[in-house]
Amino acid sequence: MTDPDGQVIVGLEVHCQLDTKSKLFCGCSTDYRNDGPNTHVCPICLGLPGAMPALNKKAIEYAMKVAKALNCEIVNEAEFSRKNYFYPDLDKAYQITQYDKPLAEGGYLEIESDEGGEKKVRLTRIHVEEDPGRLVHMGNAERGKYSLVDYNRAGIPLIEIVSEPDMRSPKEARKFLNKLRATLEYLSVFDSEKEGSLRVDANISIKGSERVEVKNITSYKGVEKALTFEVTRQKNLIRRGQKIDRETRHYLEARGVTQSARSKEQEHDYRYFPEPDLRPLRVKSWVDSIVLPELPDARRERFMKQYGCSLSHARTLTGELKLANFFEQVVREDPHGLSPLAATWIADTLIGELNYRDMSLDRVDPAAMTGLVRLLKAGTITDKSGVEVMRVMLDQRLKGEAAETPDAIVKRLGLTKSAGDDGALIAAIEEAVNENPKALEDYRNGEGKALNFLVGQVMKKTRGKADPAILNTMLAEALKKRGV
Ligand code: ZN
Ligand code: MN
Repeated sequence: MTDPDGQVIVGLEVHCQLDTKSKLFCGCSTDYRNDGPNTHVCPICLGLPGAMPALNKKAIEYAMKVAKALNCEIVNEAEFSRKNYFYPDLDKAYQITQYDKPLAEGGYLEIESDEGGEKKVRLTRIHVEEDPGRLVHMGNAERGKYSLVDYNRAGIPLIEIVSEPDMRSPKEARKFLNKLRATLEYLSVFDSEKEGSLRVDANISIKGSERVEVKNITSYKGVEKALTFEVTRQKNLIRRGQKIDRETRHYLEARGVTQSARSKEQEHDYRYFPEPDLRPLRVKSWVDSIVLPELPDARRERFMKQYGCSLSHARTLTGELKLANFFEQVVREDPHGLSPLAATWIADTLIGELNYRDMSLDRVDPAAMTGLVRLLKAGTITDKSGVEVMRVMLDQRLKGEAAETPDAIVKRLGLTKSAGDDGALIAAIEEAVNENPKALEDYRNGEGKALNFLVGQVMKKTRGKADPAILNTMLAEALKKRGV
């Protein structure tokens, strides 16, 4: 019997949209966002009889960049094939894809493993193909259901990246996708904010059991959730002595569950054959002329060397192109002086505050962030006030209010750190001690926690402005004066 606590095995097939201006085999624009359905179509992408496809060179260049960045072997001769099946979103009744001669084979992507450290996830292949159209389901039970078809997406260039089953948890699958997205963004071949730009099919099994395919997951978070659901479902079946069926399942995003789908076509049902309207693709000599930019791993190493970032900060900061650029902009004027604080305040604090507000980094002004880091570095404000200033900055942006500089916020809210001779701080300490005889008594009896309590009380009274180091010294003195 299979062990319910057995090894989880995950492999992914990822469809990524290449961010070209025109479609894969015709001149139709891929930017249909502001236009109605079926406005970006022509005889080629509508699959009308006699229309001849012409390959988009840019799409192949982008695909090769990806293949090279992912350490793949680019083949001597790639070939397009027709994958035949009937579905209303597929106007030609076949998809032009690559089958037995994909553009690239092998390769790997390095991720942070669950055990810590880097691990290589091997890739099987990368091939180029066109996207089908899109069905929009309308109507309701009373008035009748119907579907509309929109071919604006038909012919959009995709690459399909197939991994080996090298991931060992839903979390590793998420890390693979994050790293893949970062790599594609660094290559400038991909826009992760476009709808449908990344779709995932995941294979998952418990060692010794049949594998299950979860189809068409459309969000990054969805992949981890769908796989976590599957791990629990499959382990429960094994525990009850039941067998896991080899099947295709769909992920229902809204409910967070997977559901058994129709039985999948077998490969031979597709009657693949070479696309007669396109010549084989020989790109080997082209590969060498493709120059890659700095990729996430190299940038991570550089952040550690150049800015003294910790591994985990460097990982976070370089994990997204925008974030890495933002960090470098913030510290540009004084990399040596600002980097240590900027790394923490961006990687730890800012990201948390942005997530909390569901706010994009685009809306944060790097100059304002530099200003905040400078105030912290100069010791003008405490860490606690730093967070307050950041919150005000973000909320002003979010509400579209006039943005104040960090200096102005500090002044307006009176957040300048109290110095040791600050009368307000001395008064706050006196008050806190006088108001809490019980804490004083506890402290006298050797309860260290009582001191923390008093520190907290003073902080409250000074609204977080007190420098913790100074406060501790002064509090200790005040207690000594009372013979504690
Ligand atoms: Zn077209
Ligand atoms: Mn595909």
